[in-house]
Amino acid sequence: MKTFDIVVVGGGGAGLYAAMEAMKTNPKLNIAVISKIYPNRSHTSAAQGGVNAALANTAKDDTVESHIFDTIKGSDYLADQDAAEVLCRDAPGIIRELENIGTPFSRLDDGTIAQRPFGGAAQPRCCYCADKTGHTILQSLYEQCLRKGVNFYNEFYILELSHDNGRLKGIIALDIKTGKIVPFNSRSVIFATGGYAKMYWNRSSNAAGCTGDGQAVAYRAGIPLKDMEFVQFHPTGLRKSGLLVTEGARGEGGYLFNKDGERFMSKYAPNKMELGPRDLVSRSIETEIREGRGYDSHAGKYVHLDLRHLGADLIKTRLPQIRELSMYFEGVDPIEEPIPIVPTAHYSMGGIDADNDGRTIMKGVYAAGECACISVHGANRLGGNSLLEILVFGKRAGHAAAMEAQENDPSPITESELQRQHKYIRGFHHHDKHERYGIIREELGKNLADNVGIFRTKALLETGYENVVELKKRFKKVRVFDTGDIYNTNLIQVLELQNMLDLSQTVAMGALLREESRGSHTREDFPVRDDENWHKHSMFEYCDDDICVSSKAVTMGKYELQERKY
Ligand SMILES: Cc1cc2nc3c(=O)[nH]c(=O)nc-3n(C[C@H](O)[C@H](O)[C@H](O)COP(=O)(O)OP(=O)(O)OC[C@H]3O[C@@H](n4cnc5c(N)ncnc54)[C@H](O)[C@@H]3O)c2cc1C
Repeated sequence: MKTFDIVVVGGGGAGLYAAMEAMKTNPKLNIAVISKIYPNRSHTSAAQGGVNAALANTAKDDTVESHIFDTIKGSDYLADQDAAEVLCRDAPGIIRELENIGTPFSRLDDGTIAQRPFGGAAQPRCCYCADKTGHTILQSLYEQCLRKGVNFYNEFYILELSHDNGRLKGIIALDIKTGKIVPFNSRSVIFATGGYAKMYWNRSSNAAGCTGDGQAVAYRAGIPLKDMEFVQFHPTGLRKSGLLVTEGARGEGGYLFNKDGERFMSKYAPNKMELGPRDLVSRSIETEIREGRGYDSHAGKYVHLDLRHLGADLIKTRLPQIRELSMYFEGVDPIEEPIPIVPTAHYSMGGIDADNDGRTIMKGVYAAGECACISVHGANRLGGNSLLEILVFGKRAGHAAAMEAQENDPSPITESELQRQHKYIRGFHHHDKHERYGIIREELGKNLADNVGIFRTKALLETGYENVVELKKRFKKVRVFDTGDIYNTNLIQVLELQNMLDLSQTVAMGALLREESRGSHTREDFPVRDDENWHKHSMFEYCDDDICVSSKAVTMGKYELQERKY
């Protein structure tokens, strides 16, 4: 059986940067990227607004130090300060590398890369390619990986991390095209499988595949997850679909209005207005709606995002995709009318616990990108810092894996391990099973949106947690009615659902235990941040289908804890 030096699971920005960097570090390595969808369709391609770096092009007095402080303050002081520093210091170099491989950034008149203001940032430092930033970055990285000879296994779905008492052997995957179960023996594995916010179903901006598979596979293999309760709601999702309207729309000067025509952010963030951090703006919108100042419609309650005063030229050149999405999915042309919006589950701050080079507790296993919790975003991520994170830490994990791969000599994945997976999958077709995927999937999403959403209380969270436990019981009876091997999408959805159920249990449990309000986690029964008892990371380990919870200290640096005001 062939042994790879590195298997990267995930072909989004984090995975492709990791593969590119690993090849650069040692071109002789045998590297595979496995991805359940074609790499250039990964969710990174949906990123619109941009990527932060203190280049000081638009604002000449911007500094890396200011970027670090904004990130730590934005995180509500839960970020590890050494990690935030790495993120911001590496940022300008990363943008230059992207420029060198041909990413077509929008430009200022003097030819330098243009930067727009983003929420929670002291300066305009978000570099962008109109409103298609992620798409262009992903294409550039994919080209480089092909050029450097990375092996791609597209439409392969990871089932399990194979190890022998914590000694890595590789991964086991399902070939979606044929239904075959395939072993990938490997000296190292980099998880880069993206986020889990799609568990909120249609109250989410995420693509269908953002189901937290990597986190769930790592968790079940004994690798701890961290800070799972922190799920970011983005302020501006389209009312009917949850699809995203980039923060760039407010960065370019868009206003938020309630039904009384009031620019209500003046009450909540008088200095930053619409460019307050996401947690604060989302809570403000939700409060306006709850207190009866939202619009009402058959598709739900909402407020308005108004771009009309920006003019047709700006909307067409800098926000073309936003215009297109608003027209297709809401029937509204933002040049003529305001856009109906509502907060939407957007980003998972929590994930696989990893150090600044992506190392996890299992030797040879790394994590980078949205699936990892390194942790640079703490309790609340700033817009433009996630694309940055996937690039900075994708690169660092790729480099570390390339340097360390030769240290491992994995024993082969056995036939009996493959047979066990085969039997498990076949079990879903059994005739005594009667539960349906779609029903459990929808109930899970609704349960999370209703009970584990923006505003949380003990009673809601208890209900939310119990519902997940109940759904997990029902899941054992889920039947996959399609018994075929080729492109069995019903089977893939069921496997994804299992991952979301395991992860949502940690999200609800973490939210229930954390008796304070910090960043995206707002407890109405504990409205104040409680540094004495809760200035720590939550850790989750898989214990026989139950959760063992512990905590880990936050790495501090020169920034003292302060009240967060905007
Ligand atoms: C609509 C939207 C707009 C955004 N805009 C911005 C922005 O402007 N700026 C910013 O900084 N951030 C933005 N973000 C966040 C940012 O885009 C993401 O956090 C980031 O792109 C995640 O990249 P990733 O490489 O970690 O994962 P992804 O790009 O999600 O890639 C995950 C990869 O893992 C693979 N995978 C998953 N599960 C499996 C499995 N079981 N088996 C095999 N492969 C698997 C997938 O096929 C995919 O290739 C946005 C997010 C969304 C949803």
